[in-house]
Amino acid sequence: MSPSTSRWIDLDKRHGWHPFTQMRDWNAPDHDPLVLVSGEGCMLTDSEGREYLDGNSSIWTNIHGHNHPKINAAIREQLDRVAHVSFLGFTHPGAATLAARLAAFFPKTDLQRVFFSDDGSTAVEVAIKMTIQYCQIRGTPHRKRFISFCNAYHGDTIGAASLGGVPLFHDRFTDFQFPVTRVSSMDDIASLHDAGDVAAVIVEPLIQGVAGIRPWPQGMLGQLRDWCDHTGALLIFDEILTGFGRTGKMFACHHENVVPDFLCLAKGLTGGYLPLAATMVREGVFEAFLGTMEERRTFYYGHSYTANPLGCAAALASLDIFEEERTLTHLPAKIETLHNALQTLSGHPHVLATRQLGLISGIELCKRRAPNVPYDWLEQIGAKVCVVARDHGLLTRPIGDVLVFMPPLSVSSTQIEFGIGSLRRAIDAVCGSE
Ligand SMILES: *Cc1c(COP(=O)(O)O)cnc(C)c1O
Repeated sequence: MSPSTSRWIDLDKRHGWHPFTQMRDWNAPDHDPLVLVSGEGCMLTDSEGREYLDGNSSIWTNIHGHNHPKINAAIREQLDRVAHVSFLGFTHPGAATLAARLAAFFPKTDLQRVFFSDDGSTAVEVAIKMTIQYCQIRGTPHRKRFISFCNAYHGDTIGAASLGGVPLFHDRFTDFQFPVTRVSSMDDIASLHDAGDVAAVIVEPLIQGVAGIRPWPQGMLGQLRDWCDHTGALLIFDEILTGFGRTGKMFACHHENVVPDFLCLAKGLTGGYLPLAATMVREGVFEAFLGTMEERRTFYYGHSYTANPLGCAAALASLDIFEEERTLTHLPAKIETLHNALQTLSGHPHVLATRQLGLISGIELCKRRAPNVPYDWLEQIGAKVCVVARDHGLLTRPIGDVLVFMPPLSVSSTQIEFGIGSLRRAIDAVCGSE
């Protein structure tokens, strides 16, 4: 290991604190974290010069690859003008243009209003607070109940986490979060008696990510829309993972032509370059907030870096690339390649199931199939497989024992086959091939 790599690791271990990480294990003498120093396309390079395929799009964010000349140039150009100005009291060309570009993905009367923030969690917080205030303004303050799905993930700030349903992450904080009605299917929702106090329903449309890459039944978005229209509840789509082509279409809701009242975007918005989020809002909701000062309808909410110009420049460049590189047109062939590659794993004695939607895929490991015997959680088998996969040139992270393969949309078919091949070899090495 080079002296600079050891120094970075030493400093990190002494002063860093990593998300979702048991730091005792991280700081163990035999744990050598990778220090990532550069990227090009779908490849990342560590401080020792080793190259890896970015198999989870740098935690589900990257869209067009790293170091993309077009996004780099757009950020540099913006940087030479100004890095940040306030969106509180002012506007700037990037934010105004980006809001219009995002609105153009939807029918002229729907989701034409964009509220910017910083991360997926804050995009959800905005939708929560707007919902609460909207119900009060509309004279229905008794509508206080939020409905969310079991095992849903909507972010880690306390409001977004209130809606989340992953026990491992959220249980400890239950006493400090607002109460939420959790359901696991459309049937659960349909059988709720007295929905008159429901403020909103939130869902990760088409597929739950953190729950373990789990697609929903087809037609569910339309059923949710109908139920909300019928009961007067608002509908929030969390497209923080599914937005920007990841599912094969620009947005997941385009698969079923359903328009929510709020659409939350983050991760891929800037192509995976910078933290920027957007909560898109239906015009009818927006209009309820208009009034005189004494009517007190103003939405008092914002963050220091709301609509940061560098982030907006990156996002605009990313949308340009979708057109110039015809990103969505190239997706079906790649999605098919991924499907076929996953098929090669499906007979493996330690693969319980493979799941896929677009370029999002999950491979669920098991100790034994038929009857299914899962691995003991404490074995951390998924994590072990992902560590070994590095030796085969692939970086990714598991969710429990579900391996995630979700490369940037710019990935080549060869890279898809390489990535799944790396996972197979890592599974063989850790779990055995029989
Ligand atoms: C990642 C994610 C979030 C949270 O976004 P952050 O930017 O990490 O705060 C919310 N919802 C979904 C579906 C996500 O995948």
